[in-house]
Amino acid sequence: MQEVDWSHLKAHELRALAASNAVVILPIASIEQHGPHLPVMTDTRLGQEIAHRAARKACAAGRPTVVTPVVWSGLSEHHMPFGGTLTLSHSTFRLVLKDLIESLTRHGFRDILISNSHGGNQVAMQQICDELAPTSPAVLVATTYVSEAGESLSQYCEDQPGVMHAGEAETSMMMVCEPDLVDSSDLGSLTQAMDGAKFLKAGKASYRWRPFPHVTGNGIAGNPTRSTPEKGEKMIEAGAEALAALILDADTWADTRDLRGEGTQGVPFR
Ligand SMILES: [Zn+2]
Repeated sequence: MQEVDWSHLKAHELRALAASNAVVILPIASIEQHGPHLPVMTDTRLGQEIAHRAARKACAAGRPTVVTPVVWSGLSEHHMPFGGTLTLSHSTFRLVLKDLIESLTRHGFRDILISNSHGGNQVAMQQICDELAPTSPAVLVATTYVSEAGESLSQYCEDQPGVMHAGEAETSMMMVCEPDLVDSSDLGSLTQAMDGAKFLKAGKASYRWRPFPHVTGNGIAGNPTRSTPEKGEKMIEAGAEALAALILDADTWADTRDLRGEGTQGVPFR
């Protein structure tokens, strides 16, 4: 099987990957509470699994792809009240990603996919891309597997609308990745209906930050009762297929068009 794990490769092998214009997946995640039944590594482990599977699929289809270690230190302030959570400040997170992306571009990698598996990182990830992309020598693409896979993943949920927090989807996927770390002794008692209308919202279309205990008593949002490894396997594959399709789509990495007219065309602004 093709080795896609950056940390398993040797420096000369990574130099060769840069020379062959390999895609680098930079997974970003969290260490945060995931209810009483899942380990705090859940987002990190799932992000790693989906990135590795996606990279192997892309390699098999002819595009070399390598996956850095997961940046497990994300933005999880909203989970702190439940314990077990390690969070960075926004400014630190921004600098960590900036330095890692610059390490990649200094080695010559030019197609970088930031692959996120934690909702709390999403806005910051896009802001970091906005800040770095105009002057980066690389194309920076940011994705969250849940969004990129969409219905192809959420169709397997029977008891909740899609991937939520420590509910049916994440529990099912962790039953595949780390079965010994899932406490499935009493999943039926854990269901928490998350009032999505009230989380991070105010008024009709306004924003208000809130901690997670505002919407759940036990740290779960969703219903893990009918979680199974069979569902989890299909969900992980759907996530990996979506990321592989994104990597293999030539438009993802294509040069930005320049529709400026004569007089401004050719002036080097992105
Ligand atoms: Zn999670």
